[in-house]
Amino acid sequence: MPTEILSGLYQLRVPIPDNPLGWVLPYLIRSNDGYTLIDSGWNTPEAFAALEQELRDVGVAFEDIKRLIVTHVHPDHYGLAGRVKEVSGCRVITHQRERDFIRSRYRNPEQLLERVMAWLNEHGVPLEEGESLQSSAMPVRSFVVPVEPDEVLWGGETLDFGLYRFEVIWTPGHSPGHICFYDRAQRIILTGDHVLPTITPNVGLHPQQMGNPLGDYLASLQRLEPLEVDDVLPAHEHSFKDLRGRLREIVEHHELRLNEMIAIIGNERKTAYDVASTLVWTIGTFDKFSPWVRRAAISETLAHLEYAVYEGRLAMHREGGIVRYEQTAAGSK
Ligand SMILES: [Zn+2]
Ligand SMILES: [Zn+2]
Repeated sequence: MPTEILSGLYQLRVPIPDNPLGWVLPYLIRSNDGYTLIDSGWNTPEAFAALEQELRDVGVAFEDIKRLIVTHVHPDHYGLAGRVKEVSGCRVITHQRERDFIRSRYRNPEQLLERVMAWLNEHGVPLEEGESLQSSAMPVRSFVVPVEPDEVLWGGETLDFGLYRFEVIWTPGHSPGHICFYDRAQRIILTGDHVLPTITPNVGLHPQQMGNPLGDYLASLQRLEPLEVDDVLPAHEHSFKDLRGRLREIVEHHELRLNEMIAIIGNERKTAYDVASTLVWTIGTFDKFSPWVRRAAISETLAHLEYAVYEGRLAMHREGGIVRYEQTAAGSK
């Protein structure tokens, strides 16, 4: 049964089958012209049926949905977008950076696969593991019905939905075009995957997210610091109150993780694969991870290593097509 968080604003719950996350929490907002839905769910019959039932429980049919806005295009948020659009005729809205993502990830994966292989080799993944890691993301594609957004956001817009006035805040890091929605008067924020109450979202460096994603992520956390918030409404787990406290915890978590990685590097030059396979992971040992989780672990490690390069604590060396990291004088202090 959906929870009415505030008048006309509902938190829905849609299961993610066979996934430790358990569910995604889409939000339904009564608007002047019908309803706005924020995030949808994986494209599975169970998730679609659950979404339909949750809507029915509050007396809403798919035809009442005028727009679907996704916080980012990961399958658990965007997967059902195509189907929801089909049955409701709603407009689909994403951040502009996520639109580019849809094209390469869901529409032209062949070119991406080639880049992934080169990238895995460069970061020290042994040849015999490369192939399984390269294609590990492909099964996920079946959980998505890709649809081109009808409209894009850039961040900074104000969206009026019934009793609510949401500011769109661009929060890159977990995904390059991730967005949060803040209502200043109601003191609520919809944080998507950017800020979750007990787990931290994957922030990874990979061929579709280059640059300094962890640096972007930490800057995006900082962007939320000054906001006055009573209720945080995330896309997984559960609602919570103390936004600032949680922001601090997440920053500390990444600092700790980075220190662990730098300790593994010690006085040597190591690849991201060396570091990822030595690190202690709370979810199990690296050797036992599925190819998909192993790849996520490598890209998460790389995001930290690259961040440390930007911070001057590590230096990157490329020798014989392999990238290795070592401590700088500043890093070993
Ligand atoms: Zn996500
Ligand atoms: Zn998610």
